[in-house]
Amino acid sequence: MTLSVSIQAKRFANGHCAIRDLHFTARPGEFVAIVGPSGVGKSTLLKIISGLDTAFEGQLSLPRAGTTGFMFQEPRLMPWLTVAQNLALVDPAATGARLVESLERVGLKDCAHLFPNQLSGGMQRRVALLRAFLVAPQLLLMDEPFASLDAPTADQLRAHLLALWQGTQPTVLFVTHNLQEALCLADRVLFLSAGPSHIALELPVDLPRPRGVDSPAVQALGQQLLQRYPDLLKGSVP
Ligand code: ADP
Repeated sequence: MTLSVSIQAKRFANGHCAIRDLHFTARPGEFVAIVGPSGVGKSTLLKIISGLDTAFEGQLSLPRAGTTGFMFQEPRLMPWLTVAQNLALVDPAATGARLVESLERVGLKDCAHLFPNQLSGGMQRRVALLRAFLVAPQLLLMDEPFASLDAPTADQLRAHLLALWQGTQPTVLFVTHNLQEALCLADRVLFLSAGPSHIALELPVDLPRPRGVDSPAVQALGQQLLQRYPDLLKGSVP
């Protein structure tokens, strides 16, 4: 089912208007990146789409309830549970061969019995990524999930994400402030304006996959965009 987001206004209790006239759709299986500077309303937008925040003016049309997955910047694993137990929390059927096969997909074959504090930050993210996909989401909301990682670890996670996404094809909304990351991952990039935010620019990305963040094609597209719209990443498009 097509995701349709139409927000006339999002005001907080203190009167601050974070979003005004923000409208977009995403087709099933589409990977959409949402780019904007800090404080522009990206997390607010995802909270509205997730259903956590219902205090806004507008309409949403979402896939079936219960088929939305999330991944945040922090892995948010339960520290007192093992990797296997953390995954079983969202999918009780993730045991035995199914669990091993799932863990293999993100390179964590022998980690089922480990606790989060026995894993590196990148490995914890891989568990969080797998957990997001275990519920077989039709819609996956990702809020800067790789922001605090070193470059090789982030590269590896992006590759795992793309492989999982290509497997089950959920619609993905991926929030980032990293232009290259957005261009490397997405079918389409939505650039948010400074607040109250709306979509300042929409860019389909037709480059063949896989695309590295440092690949010449991604770098060239990023440079072209910034030459044409120097203040794009500040949320301003003339
Ligand atoms: P981003 O995720 O793009 O960094 P946010 O969605 O967190 O931005 O915040 C958007 C704007 O709304 C910011 O100016 C922020 O200060 C403001 N804001 C966020 N939450 C609240 C709140 N509960 N009350 C008032 N203002 C808020």
